Amino acid sequence: MSFNSLGLSEALLKAISKKGYTTPSPIQQKAIPPVLYGHDVLASAQTGTGKTAGFTLPLLHLLSENPKQKYRPIRALILTPTRELAAQVYANVREYSEFLNLRSAVIFGGVNQKPQAATIRQGVDILVATPGRLLDLQNQGLLSLKRVEIFVLDEADRMLDMGFLRDIEKVIKSMPEKRQNLMFSATFSKDIKKLAHGILNHPVQVEA
Ligand code: AMP
Repeated sequence: MSFNSLGLSEALLKAISKKGYTTPSPIQQKAIPPVLYGHDVLASAQTGTGKTAGFTLPLLHLLSENPKQKYRPIRALILTPTRELAAQVYANVREYSEFLNLRSAVIFGGVNQKPQAATIRQGVDILVATPGRLLDLQNQGLLSLKRVEIFVLDEADRMLDMGFLRDIEKVIKSMPEKRQNLMFSATFSKDIKKLAHGILNHPVQVEA
């Protein structure tokens, strides 16, 4: 199995090859095709399995395939539990989108919000965020999720462990109902299954 057979664009294949990847990892082989097809996906994957590329690559493909909107509203939201993970996912998004005409940004708490708000005001296609800072900026009217087409919930189990359930619910309510949802979790407790049921629409289930 090679990346070429997954249906990703040339621009993405170029970025992948620049990263030095030759073979898609199992989670990438299983998750990328259904995401490209437009399905909701529920993925069971630990850190280290290549899950970040598993959702980032097809997400970038889908966004770059469809015409971009004039005012660059946020079209994809990737929610992560911690700022370390947010920064890491953002670094991946930047690398994989090097040859695409897409803008991305990351926001998290514990730092001045002004530069984050200024970046968003200029228009970003993809936003990587932790829940607290996202809701903060949203409550101040500094960002809108009304045009989100793809929503990714990364490390959903850690999100719940950290008490983010209510925040996630608020974020969900502020996005359009019609959107594609991807949820990644290392473990599948009753609570995670319930959350998945509330967010995902006939998901394809994949395992690393
Ligand atoms: P992740 O599970 O997304 O945190 O990725 C774990 C590590 O695997 C990261 O350092 C990635 O850069 C790397 N990685 C992801 N996909 C591949 C791949 N197909 N081949 C080799 N390394 C990869």
